[in-house]
Amino acid sequence: MDFALTEEQRMIQEAAREFAENEIAPVAAHHDETRQPPLDLVRKLGELGFLGMNVPDAYGGAGLDMVSYILAVEEVSRACASTGIIMSVNNSLVCFPIETYGSEDQKQRYLPKLTKGEWLGAYALSEPGTGSDAANQKTVAVRDGDAYVLNGTKNFITNGGFADIFVVFAMTDTAKRVKGITAFIVEKTTPGFAVGKREKTLGIRASSTVEIVLTDCRVPVANMLGGEGGGFRVAMSTLDGGRIGVAAQAIGIARAAMEESIRYAKERQAFGQPIGQFQAIQWMLANMATEIDAARLLTLRAAATKDAGQRYTTEAAMAKLFASEVAMRAVKDAVQVHGGYGYLADFPAERHYRDAKITEIYEGTSEVQRLVIAQGLLKE
Ligand SMILES: Cc1cc2nc3c(=O)[nH]c(=O)nc-3n(C[C@H](O)[C@H](O)[C@H](O)COP(=O)(O)OP(=O)(O)OC[C@H]3O[C@@H](n4cnc5c(N)ncnc54)[C@H](O)[C@@H]3O)c2cc1C
Repeated sequence: MDFALTEEQRMIQEAAREFAENEIAPVAAHHDETRQPPLDLVRKLGELGFLGMNVPDAYGGAGLDMVSYILAVEEVSRACASTGIIMSVNNSLVCFPIETYGSEDQKQRYLPKLTKGEWLGAYALSEPGTGSDAANQKTVAVRDGDAYVLNGTKNFITNGGFADIFVVFAMTDTAKRVKGITAFIVEKTTPGFAVGKREKTLGIRASSTVEIVLTDCRVPVANMLGGEGGGFRVAMSTLDGGRIGVAAQAIGIARAAMEESIRYAKERQAFGQPIGQFQAIQWMLANMATEIDAARLLTLRAAATKDAGQRYTTEAAMAKLFASEVAMRAVKDAVQVHGGYGYLADFPAERHYRDAKITEIYEGTSEVQRLVIAQGLLKE
């Protein structure tokens, strides 16, 4: 077994780290405070090839493997968790389903713009009444000539406030439940499409979490993705990959929290010595480092399994479950290491504390990941 990254993977990791440290990290606290999405930086990520990392170059992507992608998400999220999720949604939840299930026409039309950041994408599955139970969709799509007419409300849609295209899921046959769901690519300029209220979130405040309202929204049949009734498969397989990205985001947040803690433990004096000399502090740092490494190994395994063309549903769920819980423990201890200063917005530990929680919730809660893992075990 070889744990070493390839030359190319190391170069991608270094390029992402350099951009994140030099351009993203210095403004992360500002964007968090103002809740303004860092769109100029996101466009630059597109120019550098970080928004369509796994898309073949024939469609404008970087043509890289999943391992490279998660290394980059970790670096970006270490600097700014909001930018990390904006990037992850575009790559995992929008480029992936279009590349995997899209017609040649859809790929030509959307991928070159999405990969370069000229357009940004969003993924609209959740509704006010349904999140974990994603099959219980209330949004409907009724065929009318050469279009489907969509009606319904989606909520919690990341990137929604500025995205140009949305992968939207709707019921084309309510009687069939899971087999009656269909995916559509909806452009924001489509009449009947509207962005509703923006949520005020605990963390990832510079991302945009909005409601989407569809009122007699006519979407051409040509924009159906994955065939009529194929939407649930599109949704679930897309989330499998997305979860590896969220795991990487969690690792990035945890690593930032650990690095801030190490720095602070060397500087802060108590009882005549740096607090890093106290065993209680050392154990917190040791636990963070060990757990972050374990989380990264699980995440790399999930990515490598996907790259090998094997099934990776369980591996992705394990990586997300573990990495998000590691992130929560790391940010809790990071605030503790900082004492009272960890509770102030002046120190990044406070932002990491708020940012980590979402990784246990979106793209399937920790409870849902445990269900997915158990289903895999019981099927064997
Ligand atoms: C900031 C943010 C961004 C998001 N971005 C997106 C996005 O871009 N696109 C999108 O479609 N959605 C998005 N979501 C929605 C997110 O995926 C859902 O919130 C999440 O899946 C949970 O669904 P829910 O909120 O309806 O909770 P519920 O499903 O109502 O769950 C409530 C609680 O019950 C538990 N629970 C539910 N079912 C079970 C079960 N069978 N067994 C055990 N426990 C269970 C859950 O784990 C949770 O603890 C986002 C959410 C947030 C907060």
